[in-house]
Formats: sequence, C-alpha cells, structure tokens
Amino acid sequence: MDFKHSRSVKLNDGHYMPRLGFGTYAPATVPKSKAFECTKVAIEAGFRHIDAALLYENEEEVGAAIREKIADGTVKREDIFYTTKVWATYLKPELVRSSLEISLKKLQMDYVDLFIIHVPFPMKPGNELLPKDANGQIILDTVDLCDTWEALEKCKDAGLTKSIGVSNFNRKQLEMILNKPGLKYKPTCNQVECHVYLNQSKLLEYCKSKDIALVAYSALGSQRDPGWIDQKSPYLLEDPVLNAIAKKLNRTAGQVALRYLLQRGVVVLAKSFNEKRIKENMQIFEFELTEDDMKKIDGLNKNLRYNKFLFAANHPNYPFSEEY
Ligand code: NAP
Repeated sequence: MDFKHSRSVKLNDGHYMPRLGFGTYAPATVPKSKAFECTKVAIEAGFRHIDAALLYENEEEVGAAIREKIADGTVKREDIFYTTKVWATYLKPELVRSSLEISLKKLQMDYVDLFIIHVPFPMKPGNELLPKDANGQIILDTVDLCDTWEALEKCKDAGLTKSIGVSNFNRKQLEMILNKPGLKYKPTCNQVECHVYLNQSKLLEYCKSKDIALVAYSALGSQRDPGWIDQKSPYLLEDPVLNAIAKKLNRTAGQVALRYLLQRGVVVLAKSFNEKRIKENMQIFEFELTEDDMKKIDGLNKNLRYNKFLFAANHPNYPFSEEY
C-alpha cells in the first residue's frame, strides 16, 4: 500500500480519510489569525486531514492557509481532506445546501471532502449561530433528521462534497438513517467525543459492524472552553497511568492518548495551535503501544463526557441520554 493509503481509512463510499486530522476549533478569545498560521504549520508538519466547521468562524483563515500551501507547492488540493459541518441553525432540508455554500465561499474552494451534520438537535434558523431568547437560553427547533440527510445526499450528488456523514449521533440515530426508506448513501462516519476517559467501545463496535468510521474529537481532553465545558472536569493529560506509559516510552501523554485511539481503529482529531505540539502529534505513527499498555489504558474509561451540550438535554434528539 502506498503512504497516503497506509495512513488513511477507506470510507464506505470508496474515498480515503487520513487517520489523523488537525482540529481547527479555538475559543473566541484566540485571534482568528492563529488558525491561519497554525493550519499552515500543520500542513508543513504533514497533516492532510483538516477538521473545520461553519460554527468555528475561521474557515476564511483555514481556507487561506490551505490555498497558500497549495500555491507554494507543498500540497495539491487532492492531497487535503477537508471536513466542514452543517450547523444546527441550518438543519432544515431547504437550508442545508446554503450552509455548505457559505463554507465554500469562505474557503474559496469548489468542493469539500466531507460534509457532516454537526449535531442532531436543530436550533432556530437565522443569522445567529447560537440564537438565544430574552433569558439567554438557546432557542431549539425541530426537524426530521431523515429529511436533513436527504439534503446532504443532494449536496454530494451536486459535487459540492465528496463524502457525507454525521457527528454527535447515538446508535439509534445512526440506525434511523441506515433504515431510512430510499437511503441513497450511508453515513461514512460519525464524529464523536472519544478519548481515554470516554473510550466509546460500544459505539465503536457498532460503527465497525456498519462500516462507519468513528472519528474522535476532544481526544486530548478538550480545550476546556468555559463556554462549553464544565471547569470541574478532570484534566485528561494529567492522568498518572498515561504519564507513566509516556515516560516509559519516552513519549508525551498527548502522544499516548492519540496513539491509543489510532490503534483501536479510530480516526483521531488533534487540535493544537502550538508548533511544537503540532509536530509532536504527527509523530504518533512512529511508535506502538503494547497489548498490556492498551489494556491499562482501557481501564481508564469512566464514561466522562466533556462536551455535554446540556442546553439541549430536554430535546427529543438529545443524543447522550442513551447509553451509546
Ligand atoms: P483536543 O484535540 O482535545 O485538544 C485539547 C488541547 O490539547 C488543545 O487546546 C491543545 O492546546 C492541547 N494539545 C494538543 N496537542 C497536545 C500535546 N501533544 N500535548 C499536550 N497538549 C496538547 O481539542 P478539541 O478542540 O476539543 O478537539 C479537537 C477538534 O475536534 C476540534 O478542534 C474540532 O475540530 C473538533 N471538535 C468537534 C466537535 C463536534 O461537535 N463535532 C466538538 C469538539 C471538537 P495547544 O493548542 O496549546 O497545543
């Protein structure tokens, strides 16, 4: 197998997705120019999979970085696997394509590689990405996700995206799409929170049985953005077991946390806006964890979710009331 394919998984629609992706989300306090600088560093370091979203409000910067790296000959467009997501305010089927078109315009590209449903709970459509009522509560909405899925299928047929998938879906929601009458394309992936404290073994097994790639986000324990994450949750990278294994291998806890997922057949996203750590994260292909270390890390699982989206907890589409 050639280099590109040995570091990629073949999706159920025949396209290849690199097993390691660069996360581009950063809290609002981080200057947008960092996304531009760091996406270039990531591409130079060898990242070929870039995970973005309309919600992150930095697709102009990420797109400019990719275009610059294409212009200077570092990569070709077809070497890059770019993911964007349809945000919650665009889940009505008639709005889905416009979300992708906005992303493409910001990127100044004519297609993305993957377009996924960001979250299964819709929010009120409009100009606000996080629409709020007078009490500051997010205004949710309703939609039939099967209709949303058909709109994604149309985006693929129109050539605006090579592949389509979902994010933050539970097993029942995946099953609902897979069992949809007249299904044209299966979801290629489900991007979910997955790390040593939430190892998603049951969802992973289910996804493997349906040839759906599980893509892990917050694999390093999240950015602990106070807007989204409970500040009392434990620091994943301070875990003593991870650190002991890292020390033994002369690696870092971050590398071990990422490598653990890679070895279980998970596609891993890693966000870093720091040159040293971006390079460090690319090195997870250079070492292996023993079966014994894998078992020790399995033992760290405590079903701890950092990204709970609690504002949607009472919505019928809230995905995390189910076991998996
Ligand atoms: P993450 O990948 O868990 O990273 C958390 C933090 O770890 C980063 O802020 C980074 O800080 C630090 N870090 C990176 N490499 C490290 C290393 N080798 N050693 C020590 N620390 C390291 O962050 P995340 O943003 O939660 O998840 C990654 C990506 O997944 C996002 O950027 C986004 O693309 C996607 N995501 C998707 C969803 C969804 O709902 N679909 C939700 C959350 C995230 P520095 O920048 O300072 O290095």
